[in-house]
Amino acid sequence: MNRSLLILLLSVLVGCSEDHKNSSSVFFSGEIVNPTDNYVVLFKGDKLIDSVALDDDNRFAFRFDSIENGLYHFKHAPEYQNVYLNRGDSLFIRLNTVDFDESLVYSGKGEEINNFMMEVYLTKENEKKIINDFYRLEPKGFSRKIDSLQHLKLDLLNELNLDFPFTEKEMEIAKADIVYNYAKYKERYPFKHKKFSKTKNKIPDLDKSYYAYRNEITYDNKDLTYLRPYYEFMVNHFGNLSFMSCTEGCEIKDNMARNHLHFNKHKMKLIDSMVVEKDLKDNLFRNVAVDYLLKVHDTPENNRIFMEVFQALSSDNKHMAEIEDLYNGIKNIQPQNRIPEIEVTNFNGEKITLPNIAKNRKTVFYFWSGTNRKHLNNISNRVKQLEREEPNFDFVGINVKTGQDEWKSLVKTSGFDASSQFRSDNFEQLTKSLIVYPLNKCIITEDEQIVDAFGDIYKSFD
Ligand SMILES: [Zn+2]
Repeated sequence: MNRSLLILLLSVLVGCSEDHKNSSSVFFSGEIVNPTDNYVVLFKGDKLIDSVALDDDNRFAFRFDSIENGLYHFKHAPEYQNVYLNRGDSLFIRLNTVDFDESLVYSGKGEEINNFMMEVYLTKENEKKIINDFYRLEPKGFSRKIDSLQHLKLDLLNELNLDFPFTEKEMEIAKADIVYNYAKYKERYPFKHKKFSKTKNKIPDLDKSYYAYRNEITYDNKDLTYLRPYYEFMVNHFGNLSFMSCTEGCEIKDNMARNHLHFNKHKMKLIDSMVVEKDLKDNLFRNVAVDYLLKVHDTPENNRIFMEVFQALSSDNKHMAEIEDLYNGIKNIQPQNRIPEIEVTNFNGEKITLPNIAKNRKTVFYFWSGTNRKHLNNISNRVKQLEREEPNFDFVGINVKTGQDEWKSLVKTSGFDASSQFRSDNFEQLTKSLIVYPLNKCIITEDEQIVDAFGDIYKSFD
């Protein structure tokens, strides 16, 4: 925590003369060393507020006549970080993309809350490993360790607040940033403990005092909805609540693993009955749907029932179009359907559709991206091995998200046969129709017909 204290002390010496208290405008500017993009984009929640280009000196500046006080985040692709803005603030950041989070320093009016939250963020990142070891402890010991980490940060916050009084809203957010982070670990504990304490292999009994922090939880605070620790807490909290209530109250009991549909329906009903704030509710529903549809690979009939419940409970969900696209995409690539009529480009720049590639042969489509070199290296080795072992199949690589020139040079350096490589200019259509997740997935077809659209290039041929 020393760095933030130092910065605070410096600002007392230098910064006091400037006072923008009477102004409602907000000035947020900065310098980015080693930029990875030409822009800085400012968001509030999932709403884009504004974007500005870097100038020749890699500096940017946002100026707003008036803006809602609260938590924002700025993105310099591919990274992003929080920034708390108050009317009257004049905030300057400096960061180096080589060490994005560690290098980020805020200065000027509004720096105290931002530097404090940044320090807390870095400390929390460092604690993740230690906390993994705590999961082995018994409930009382675990709680004590977590509580003491939490108290250290709350004490520091209170000390800072004496010297540099925070606004009520700043205090609320800085506190929630700490409290929900540690509450998240308590929600995870029963499952991690079961996994790590090999001797017992059961969920520990937890009394009411273990969950005492739950009395203070809010399900209705717009200012917290996009605070990451708060959202992560909610995801874990509803996972815990649904598991416990299904084990205790529902007839599926031990068959949880075999009844994903029941578990996820149950989870949506809990979210619906407890969460008040609309955006949080929408985001949590989306989380359940993506998790279930993308990872479970349930039967088409179960997926249909799931969607009926989703639509009944969350009919005005702001992510509805995305979830319906996902559902329809999955429905369209069930076995015996024709592989979607998507146009891709071959190495010579000629257009061809997937059914045409798959015609009259057995084909395995696999996927790779230029941004993930380790994956590319692994998959090119795997494909060469499979081409030897499975001569009845054609192995066809589909690139996602790499520019044409880079793609061509990667095809050559990876030792792929260029005639088996294709790419699409319309990544969105491609990923939506073929559900490219996870990256090791493959689609197996026989004469244009899908045999398995959710194969795994490492497991399907073992
Ligand atoms: Zn249940």
